[in-house]
Amino acid sequence: MSARLPAVFLGHGNPMNALEQNAWTRAWAALGAGLEPRPRAVLAISAHWYIPGTAVTAMATPRTIHDFGGFPRELYAVRYDAPGDPALAERIAALLAPLPVGADLTWGLDHGTWSVLRHVFPRADVPVVQLSIDATRPPAFHYELGVRLRALREAGVLILGSGNVVHNLNAYAWGRHPAEPYDWAVRFESTLRARLLAGDHLSVVDYSALGEDALLAAPTPEHYLPLLYALGASFPEELVTFPTDGIDGGSVSMLAVRFG
Ligand code: ZN
Repeated sequence: MSARLPAVFLGHGNPMNALEQNAWTRAWAALGAGLEPRPRAVLAISAHWYIPGTAVTAMATPRTIHDFGGFPRELYAVRYDAPGDPALAERIAALLAPLPVGADLTWGLDHGTWSVLRHVFPRADVPVVQLSIDATRPPAFHYELGVRLRALREAGVLILGSGNVVHNLNAYAWGRHPAEPYDWAVRFESTLRARLLAGDHLSVVDYSALGEDALLAAPTPEHYLPLLYALGASFPEELVTFPTDGIDGGSVSMLAVRFG
């Protein structure tokens, strides 16, 4: 049995998924329940910590951040009280050296992280560290950080990117009615899946070459980039699977990607 944990990317979608039970959240729960060995920590890269610079949460008890507006009161009441892991934060900074990595004591766990982890590890008993996404850097930079973090997978750490490979909120059908997926969303996602299955990392990193479809699928990069951390952390020839999928509200892909 391999002691290596998979690297995963989860499409988190609407924050209400934190409270709901649906096909996506059941897939996240199944993923967590099936991990062998059980992770000793999670390194989360969330679309919602997109700042100038690379930082890692270094506090022993990260707070639950409700970084959204206009949702029901019960969503603001959610707390995800997983402990932090300051020693892991130090190890991450060492792996990424000489890149300066800030030891952050003010952020915590944003909803990109807790809305999925609430299902993956419902008891919040696995320590969690978040790594920021440096908004000033190109996609290849983020992929390269994933490569440098890959060794953590053999040290009991679950590398978890949380975003959405298609994320266009201007086109999103807010509300509960089912919406037909946009053609560009389906096209972009299916091209991406083929590239992932083919192990064509370069073209997954260089997604903007898809032109107008990429502009519509990822009008801003922050929800796409967490995928590149998981991709970079994958080993050559590793099995790529999609634990769940679907396009929510016409313009948000819920595709999950698992490496290993
Ligand atoms: Zn989001």
